[in-house]
Amino acid sequence: MPFQQPPLPFAMDALKPFLSKEQLHYHYDKHHAAYFKNLNALVEGKPEAEMPLTEVVIQSAGPIFNNAAQAWNHSFYWDCMKPGGGAPKGDLAAALKRDFGSVENFKKEMTEKAVKLFGSGWAWLAADPNGNLEVLPLGNADTPLKHGKKPLLTIDVWEHAYYVDYHNERPKYVEGFWNVVNWDFVEKNLAAT
Ligand code: MN
Repeated sequence: MPFQQPPLPFAMDALKPFLSKEQLHYHYDKHHAAYFKNLNALVEGKPEAEMPLTEVVIQSAGPIFNNAAQAWNHSFYWDCMKPGGGAPKGDLAAALKRDFGSVENFKKEMTEKAVKLFGSGWAWLAADPNGNLEVLPLGNADTPLKHGKKPLLTIDVWEHAYYVDYHNERPKYVEGFWNVVNWDFVEKNLAAT
């Protein structure tokens, strides 16, 4: 199989009480795994099978794009979280203050865009080609990679991401997310060229 689902970067119960073991089990073992399974079936015998996953996301359309982007987006989302969370610091904190006025303003904007995104999708913090940071609410499998922008942080707001633990209460899920953000990963993404 050309594309392999990476292991979760934490134990299945490590994000409690934000996400239960059952919530993560369905999300990682069922939903995320299915995108890899579907993608591998779709690219069999095609040029995409030889490409890095990010290139497939950038170059493809239709069902291959949907499954490749969802495979990539979820791996990125897991890396955006860690038990205990923390706070942004250094260059990242400075960039958030520069472009949003304060870290709190940034969190407020990303929270609002994540909560208000209609239907399924993802809220992203991304850097444009000039290095300016912005919050992008994107539908379904869409990703900043497709818009020439660098993903820094994401939250999955598909219902499957929170329905086991939060039912219809997306705002509670989004609020809880801030307690587990892996800011070191976000800062590493910002520093990457
Ligand atoms: Mn998901």
